Amino acid sequence: MNIALIAHDKKKDDLVNFAVAYRDVFDGHTLYATGTTGRRIIEATGLSIQCVQSGPLGGDQQLGALVATDQLDLVLFFRDPLTAQPHEPDITALIRLCDVHHVPVATNMGTAEILVYGLQKGKLLSKEVRQGNVE
Ligand code: PGA
Repeated sequence: MNIALIAHDKKKDDLVNFAVAYRDVFDGHTLYATGTTGRRIIEATGLSIQCVQSGPLGGDQQLGALVATDQLDLVLFFRDPLTAQPHEPDITALIRLCDVHHVPVATNMGTAEILVYGLQKGKLLSKEVRQGNVE
């Protein structure tokens, strides 16, 4: 599975701790992250992560392009709902594209835990089923 990890500044500690806790689940998947988030997770876990630009510099749009071209299967985006973000339009666009392409997206740790549990158990629907391409 191709998984994207993103966290706003005040949620980065939470996502780093989450990645440490679920390191074994993430290991073996192909991971992408926005720049600062990715570097923090690499430091804490040693996981291999392809880092795109920092979110405010276009990283969310780069991940959105991967969603639009069916190259992401799961997005874990720990959003900070209490702080204004300069790149709010990019964030909205990324989540919209996840909905367009039926890509599971968690915007908080509670939902992320359920999705990672599904990932661990092999219970996430395949891209083909999500897109309705299977009879
Ligand atoms: P960052 O970007 O990981 O580079 O901080 C995340 C974001 O704010 O969208």
